[in-house]
Amino acid sequence: MAPQPLPAADQKLVDAILARGPAQRRALAKAITLIESTRVDHQARAREVLATLLPHTGRAIRVGISGVPGSGKSTFIEALGNFLIDGGKRVAVLAVDPSSSVSGGSILGDKTRMESLCQREEAFIRPSPTSGALGGVAEKTREAMLLFEAAGFDVIIVETVGVGQSETMVAGMVDLFALLQLVNAGDDLQTIKKGIIEIADLVLFNKADIDEKAAHLAQLQMTSALTMLRPASRNWKVPVLTISALARRGIPAFWDEVERYRATMAESGEFEAKRRRQALAWMWNMIDAGVRQYFRQHPAVGAELAQLSQAVAEGRTTPGAAAHRLLDSIKQ
Ligand code: GDP
Repeated sequence: MAPQPLPAADQKLVDAILARGPAQRRALAKAITLIESTRVDHQARAREVLATLLPHTGRAIRVGISGVPGSGKSTFIEALGNFLIDGGKRVAVLAVDPSSSVSGGSILGDKTRMESLCQREEAFIRPSPTSGALGGVAEKTREAMLLFEAAGFDVIIVETVGVGQSETMVAGMVDLFALLQLVNAGDDLQTIKKGIIEIADLVLFNKADIDEKAAHLAQLQMTSALTMLRPASRNWKVPVLTISALARRGIPAFWDEVERYRATMAESGEFEAKRRRQALAWMWNMIDAGVRQYFRQHPAVGAELAQLSQAVAEGRTTPGAAAHRLLDSIKQ
């Protein structure tokens, strides 16, 4: 599907994003605003802008980083970001914060975080979008990711708080998902119980400087726990590292593993296969959301939805019968 020629203003936006000149930062901010807008006309424009940029995307490595509040995510990302920029890379940090859509404020959106990284020309830090449910937040983050890739950023870091659903969502949009853990058995157990460890491609025990011995023990225990899980790829044994984000120790070792992951997965064809799977899952998410919205806004549904919902709640009709009748009403 060839994109339509864009209106002049949007073409200017696209050109500025691709040009990597001094106007790029402002253009990126503007495009993000467009993507995050809830106006129907803005959304249509955002889709066209993204379609035009699509051929320029896909070259960055997408890394997800998760961990409970206080595990050291921002300290780690700041250290990693600076390390990567010193190595000649450009880094975008995107946050996915499920709390932001509920409270309007957020755990991750705090502007004082990652202070030194914020000031670097080669970094762009975008707080979590605050509108919409988690699905919407993830959606906008995916789109923002494409913008940054088109703008020539080499590494996209997607950060999320460790509170369940958001991790699965982030794992579904990145190439590699890393989990930041604290040296504390309770924390490990929680992650294993919640099934989060199964989606991790890399596990990091942070704050190893506090107690080196305990960190080493936690590393061994986690390595052994991981052998009992079915690996996502038979070509990748999930590494467990100990680091100190604060002391900036273990950062190059972490990046070596990321590079090794990319090379290993690319060689087996799994890298591209995962991206293709993710793109299709993304499409289906959007279809599901769109169909749901169409259904809710359909005049035939509006009339009956309230009544039938009440009937189901009061046990006067079965959920199956009510759903069937509502779905039937939009077919006519
Ligand atoms: P986040 O909530 O996951 O983003 O965690 P932060 O990065 O804000 O870190 C929480 C606290 O842990 C801060 O006071 C950090 O200075 C501290 N911290 C982070 N990494 C380390 C580390 O490697 N060692 C030590 N000792 N403290 C750390």
